Amino acid sequence: MPQTALVILDDPVIDSRFEGVGASRDYRFADPSAAQVNVLDFGVTRGDGIFETISVGAGRLQALEPHLARFARSAALLDLPAPDLDAWREAIAAAAGAIDPAPEAFVKTVMTRGVEGSGGDVTGWAYASPSADFAEVRREGIAVVTLDRGYRHDIAKTSPWLLAGAKTLSYAVNRAVLREAAKRGAEDAVFVSSDGYLLEGSTSNLILRVGDRLVTPSLDLGILAGTTQNDIFGFAAGIGLRGEYALLEQSALADADAAWLVSSVRHAAPIRSVDGVERPVDAELTAAINTFLIGRRV
Ligand code: PLP
Repeated sequence: MPQTALVILDDPVIDSRFEGVGASRDYRFADPSAAQVNVLDFGVTRGDGIFETISVGAGRLQALEPHLARFARSAALLDLPAPDLDAWREAIAAAAGAIDPAPEAFVKTVMTRGVEGSGGDVTGWAYASPSADFAEVRREGIAVVTLDRGYRHDIAKTSPWLLAGAKTLSYAVNRAVLREAAKRGAEDAVFVSSDGYLLEGSTSNLILRVGDRLVTPSLDLGILAGTTQNDIFGFAAGIGLRGEYALLEQSALADADAAWLVSSVRHAAPIRSVDGVERPVDAELTAAINTFLIGRRV
């Protein structure tokens, strides 16, 4: 079996599907190491499109339905046609099933606004690969810096055209903050709103432990509603930790008993320092959360 797999969807959206075709498959395998995307694709030239990255643990797609629901929400926020979720489910399963068995893998789904001048057909694919080894990061933790995102905490309400909270392909900023973090001797960044509230990581959500509560920034702050954070809150309830959403001042990060950046694939990365100041790592809870996340069956 190949190490990676690429599935291209012929009909990624509901609008473009033929009625009653049923028997024909809506996807095809392609060579992931060969060029497949048109140079005029809006995803390439403008970052105009959406994506999801779905963890695969021991061959099982994790939080698939929440990822698909967010994919559809992102499409709606960008005024893209609604993705045909049945077609995507099939393509994702095909891609995940085509790679070598690995303890941890991922499938990335991408849907762009399509090729400029081609009449509005969107482009869609699902790419599967084994995951990198995050054992050390999960054990030793990460150093983070806090960086001003430059937007107020309420932009999702005041300025929906900024697409805050949509998982768009425009991730140049999310990459730039990693370079800024590296210049400051850190591995990741925590975004803070221009008016001083904690938001999210560059590709992750922030969770704080405060006593027997797990607290994460409210989802109406123009941040991504994380599938991993949501699953962790479900797990935490079962071990006596209450999950809460709150408007958190920046100082809450330094005051927390422990903190994590959580996301699909990397899962829970404990924060071991903030802006150069060492922070306590809750090794036991981190291990319990990651064992739970890696072992999820749905
Ligand atoms: N926030 C941002 C900006 C992200 O890019 C991601 C994931 O890539 C997340 C949060 C975490 O989302 P999830 O847990 O669903 O992977």
